[in-house]
Amino acid sequence: MERTLVILKPAALQRELVGEILSRFERKGLYFVGMKMMQLNDALLNEHYGHLKEKSFFGDVKAAMSASPVIVLCLEGVEAVRVVRAMAGVTNGRNAEPGTIRGDYSMSVEQNVIHASDSIETAEVEIKRFFKEEELFDSKRVGGSFYYAKYE
Ligand code: UDP
Ligand code: MG
Repeated sequence: MERTLVILKPAALQRELVGEILSRFERKGLYFVGMKMMQLNDALLNEHYGHLKEKSFFGDVKAAMSASPVIVLCLEGVEAVRVVRAMAGVTNGRNAEPGTIRGDYSMSVEQNVIHASDSIETAEVEIKRFFKEEELFDSKRVGGSFYYAKYE
């Protein structure tokens, strides 16, 4: 199984889309193995968006990503990197296919609601960037009932 990194960007939190987006991943069958809220800082963003540092929009994208807290997720599943990237849609929300997250919730190239790792190699680096080892959990389901206490 693969693991991939997703960031629910400030736009997702500010526009109150968190529940809907999490629900898509959950319904799809991806396991949540890590999830936390954090405020991204300049150092982390310089690293995360290092491939964009020569672009004219580098400052803008960093400002957009630090405008409010974000939620970072580590998702697990067979071919999770490719599957989640497909669920995200292409970068520009206006070009993303309806049915994808960006296609359904974004009209913008910058404010495109989520980040998703673009390759297995990138995913490995990005997961380490955002999660400590002890913040990632086993995806294996445990036995027992989660509907009632044993005395009910
Ligand atoms: N971005 C932008 N303007 C652009 C291209 C990208 O503001 O012309 C932002 C956008 O938020 C995107 C992020 O920079 O998600 C990272 O860009 P990348 O090319 O890695 O796209 P992604 O992998 O997110 O689809
Ligand atoms: Mg990218």
